[in-house]
Amino acid sequence: MNILLHPFQTTYNTAPFSAIKNEDYLPAITTLIEETKTEIDNITSNPEPPTFENTIEALEFSGQQLDRVTNIFFNLNSAETNDAIQKIAQEVSPLLSEFGNDITLNEALFERVKAVYNNKADLNLNPEQIMLLDKSYKSFSRNGANLVEGKKETLRNIDKDLSKLSLTFGEHVLAETNAFEMHITNEADLSGLPDGAKEAAKQLAESKDKDGWLITLDYPSYIPFMTYADNRELRKKLAIAFGKKGFHNNELDNQDIVLNIVKKRFQRANLLGYKTHAHFVLEERMAKTPETVSHFLNELLEKAKPAAQEEFKSLEDFAKALDGIERLEKWDASYYAEKLKQKLFDLDDEKLKPYFKLEHVINGAFNIAKKLYGLHFEEIDTIDKYHEDVLTYKVTNEAGDLVSVFYADFFPRAGKRNGAWMTSYKSQFVKDKTNERPHISIVCNFTKPTKSKPSLLTFNEVTTLFHEFGHALHGMLANTTYPSLSGTSVFWDFVELPSQVMENWCYEKEALELFATHYETGEIIPMELVTKIKDSAAFNEGMQTLRQISFGLLDMNWHGIDPSAISSVKAHESEAFENTKLYPDVAENCMSTSFSHIFQGGYSSGYYSYKWAEVLDADAFEYFKDAGIFNKEVATKFKDNILSQGGTVDPMTLYKRFRGQEPQPEALLRRAGLIK
Ligand SMILES: [Zn+2]
Repeated sequence: MNILLHPFQTTYNTAPFSAIKNEDYLPAITTLIEETKTEIDNITSNPEPPTFENTIEALEFSGQQLDRVTNIFFNLNSAETNDAIQKIAQEVSPLLSEFGNDITLNEALFERVKAVYNNKADLNLNPEQIMLLDKSYKSFSRNGANLVEGKKETLRNIDKDLSKLSLTFGEHVLAETNAFEMHITNEADLSGLPDGAKEAAKQLAESKDKDGWLITLDYPSYIPFMTYADNRELRKKLAIAFGKKGFHNNELDNQDIVLNIVKKRFQRANLLGYKTHAHFVLEERMAKTPETVSHFLNELLEKAKPAAQEEFKSLEDFAKALDGIERLEKWDASYYAEKLKQKLFDLDDEKLKPYFKLEHVINGAFNIAKKLYGLHFEEIDTIDKYHEDVLTYKVTNEAGDLVSVFYADFFPRAGKRNGAWMTSYKSQFVKDKTNERPHISIVCNFTKPTKSKPSLLTFNEVTTLFHEFGHALHGMLANTTYPSLSGTSVFWDFVELPSQVMENWCYEKEALELFATHYETGEIIPMELVTKIKDSAAFNEGMQTLRQISFGLLDMNWHGIDPSAISSVKAHESEAFENTKLYPDVAENCMSTSFSHIFQGGYSSGYYSYKWAEVLDADAFEYFKDAGIFNKEVATKFKDNILSQGGTVDPMTLYKRFRGQEPQPEALLRRAGLIK
């Protein structure tokens, strides 16, 4: 019997990890795709006229077992993978994307969805139903379902070209990154580097049968060298090599590709009835329009610029006093910033770690969730785990009702990918009057305990845990009818609000007192250290802000306009950077030709969202702070209007219901110390 084909007969209906065999996945997914196809055929062949229930809702609740199984499979492919699972993923992924395409290209299905959509005003739908209807309709229309046959063909061709161009762009960046190495044979040239970075450079050289040390353009090699290496000439050499990826007229040049991508994206948007690519993308964002994004970035720029210029001046003065540097260049930035930071704060992880024992930090997060949202976390051993390191919890509310199942998986292993993330094994939704509760998981790669020492987290790991826990709360407290609108299924310039806002508690005395106690002495973290953590977090924030804004503006300058007249990538870029420039321009460098976020990955017209989310979280947290960081009333507003609502209502409306007004940038500027 293939266990995956049937609803799980387990406590809380959790995933039966121990009973699943690798060889169950492929046949189960194939069968479940067929079953879902039948469900969809039943919708399209329904002799009744299309209604919200028999079309939109039926589509929404189709393929539920398929979703559960693919969730389990892909979650494990990230958290506990092996060769067999990866091989299955290679087979399963194309099946699923083909199935996805079959749905968006299903004309009979679109006809029914469109009939309901056109009738929207007469259907007496509630706001969540209207949202679901809009979302369903747009999943077709944004992929060209409304186009006439010839134009559909044009769209497919543009999409094909675009996916090839992005792929080539990425391959070029990768090849350029790998083509460069700086071979060092004189140890004095490594002066300033921490031992770990030296060792890594030596190992890299050894792995390529070279003597001495190798420095490359990969971040783990590049960043430490730029931050610590005393040799300015070598920093310059490395920085210039880094900045000219895709920009030196060789066979890996990306200039034409950039122009081609932006022109095709523009053409695609026009074809679908949008003014520019940014208009197309932002339709499904909290920001809504390119004008809002530009206004947002420029307002922030105006307010942050004076502080950034001041910071730049201090850094320049510092470099001059220390090493007689006359003109601060790009390759001096990280180096002198690090030196100045050390001088000002003298704060290193080793001093902080004893106060952040993992168990204390988790309990701290639970305790804060209890104070804010009345949640109770109880560790349980009655459900299956996919690895013995995974901790499992039953989460209940004040009335004792089940809110969620929670998995926490903290330590690195061979089969786990890098980084930290939140995910779910089962979404929340309401069906047949039953509120199905979600199964939420966070996965991290924290310092492991040793025989003599418990797991002691760096401060960065502490904020990471709170960040993922914030996403988890968004998933756990979900309370919507439809699964595709539940929990973290929100516009992506809104999804980081619940996570980032949680990080703020890590800097507050009242919160730290709950969990930041020395693992040996039990002493609460000294206030002096807390102040240092805060101040050092705000160090050079003006310059950092300007940098983020410059990337956001560059992105909008490529995607928010008609690009047909642009002929020089470098000239266009320089124009976009004009107002955010601090360092002298480097003629042989270009950012756009290796800006993978927007030309390879999915961040086009989306780079602003990093700062956007920070503005939201700072503004939201200031509201908490003004009332007291554990104020029940503000917390309830946050839970009722944001955490529980998922994507059922437009995020700006949700935010205003919580905050009473639109988000303002001042809270972020204050937190970053850029205004008083
Ligand atoms: Zn996040």
